Amino acid sequence: MKYERIKGTNDIYGDEIHFWNFVEQKAKRIANLFGYEEIRTPIFEMTELFTRSVGEETDIVQKEMYTFVDKGGRSITLRPEGTAPTMRAFIENSMINNGLPQRFFYIGPMFRYEKPQSGRLRQFHQFGVELLGSSHPLADAEVLILAKSFLEELGIKNYQIHLNSIGCSECRVNYKRALKDYYSKHYDQLCDDCKRRFETNVMRLLDCKVDVQLAANAPKTVDYLCKECKEHYEKLKELLNLAGVDYVEDGNLVRGLDYYTRTVFEVRHSLLGAQNTILAGGRYDGLSTELRGPDLPALGFAAGIERLIIALKSEKVEIPRKPLCLVYVIPLGEASLRHVFEITSQLRKVGIPTIMDVNARNLKAQLKHADRLNAVIAVILGENEVSRNVVLIKELDTSQQHEVQFEYAVDYIVDMLKFKGLLSGEHS
Ligand code: ATP
Ligand code: MG
Repeated sequence: MKYERIKGTNDIYGDEIHFWNFVEQKAKRIANLFGYEEIRTPIFEMTELFTRSVGEETDIVQKEMYTFVDKGGRSITLRPEGTAPTMRAFIENSMINNGLPQRFFYIGPMFRYEKPQSGRLRQFHQFGVELLGSSHPLADAEVLILAKSFLEELGIKNYQIHLNSIGCSECRVNYKRALKDYYSKHYDQLCDDCKRRFETNVMRLLDCKVDVQLAANAPKTVDYLCKECKEHYEKLKELLNLAGVDYVEDGNLVRGLDYYTRTVFEVRHSLLGAQNTILAGGRYDGLSTELRGPDLPALGFAAGIERLIIALKSEKVEIPRKPLCLVYVIPLGEASLRHVFEITSQLRKVGIPTIMDVNARNLKAQLKHADRLNAVIAVILGENEVSRNVVLIKELDTSQQHEVQFEYAVDYIVDMLKFKGLLSGEHS
């Protein structure tokens, strides 16, 4: 029997790894520059955490959760998103005692049982940020500025920020009434899911992936905002203009999770096709109390790393690729091993990626392997060299060879790599 990876999951290796490292490093750098602290929560949680926070009537809870009963009879779910776990951790560990606001970021795998396609996987990865403890529009502005800075830092350009406000529970009363009114006139056209949602949670009809046209013509949340929510939204737009963050107002934007209030946003990429949302988020002022925590206004976003990488590739962004090996060390015979260990260890100490042969092959086979690894320099140490206290340094691009005294070899290699532009000043 052949073992295959689970449908909707990916093995990430080879050149792909450079893209992952690039995105993760940029994410960490931006989070750090904005004062967001890393948080790592478990990849599984009690199922109820998600049904309660994400919402019973959402696609995630209805169709997409990886839920199983463990050997102790508990219902467990692989996390489909990172906000509820972050909030759970915040409440459970009484982090509020450290004062407010608090800023967190996370990077990690999420799990949703979806139909696998480009940009849609069953195990995918998110970089997310959460800003807990401010209801002020300045907090919303900060999170959007962070999102923009992150995309800029990655070098992604063909994107647009879609912005909306969906109000609070007060505005919802009137809005839901208007929606019911509207959809009741089109009830027969609704898909089966939406017919159920019409009774249980009418706002969910707006992000139905089937009844898209109906949703486009539905009443807009912004026309039903209460005075406070309207002021909040107007202030946020003012702040974004001030900060130079471009956005389009999108009255049709509602998010696929129940816990959102007021600000919602999505960043869409113009070259990505059907799965074009690379980052999405919003404010979730009610989530903490929903999870029996303190009254805690908060907001955040999550960006899909797979989709960011598709965007990077579609824009042909040049990413750095760290070489696996600059120097390949070739021992020839037992007598050379002490010298070989010494020089490899010295090279690594000064920060040069160095691989040593471990197959005791002949010179030709080792040089061939060095070439395959794209090594720049081969260091050859045979009994003859050892007895004369020298090493043979071979430039693999030009095939030139130089004999160098053993004690000067590392300095010689460092200078050579610097001359080739392959080492920065940090190596000495
Ligand atoms: P979609 O409408 O595409 O299903 P969503 O509203 O379910 O997205 P969110 O829960 O807001 O997505 O997640 C934030 C981001 O995570 C998305 O914008 C996307 O970039 C990424 N994402 C979500 N689901 C997947 C998935 N199944 N595979 C890959 N990336 C995903
Ligand atoms: Mg989805």
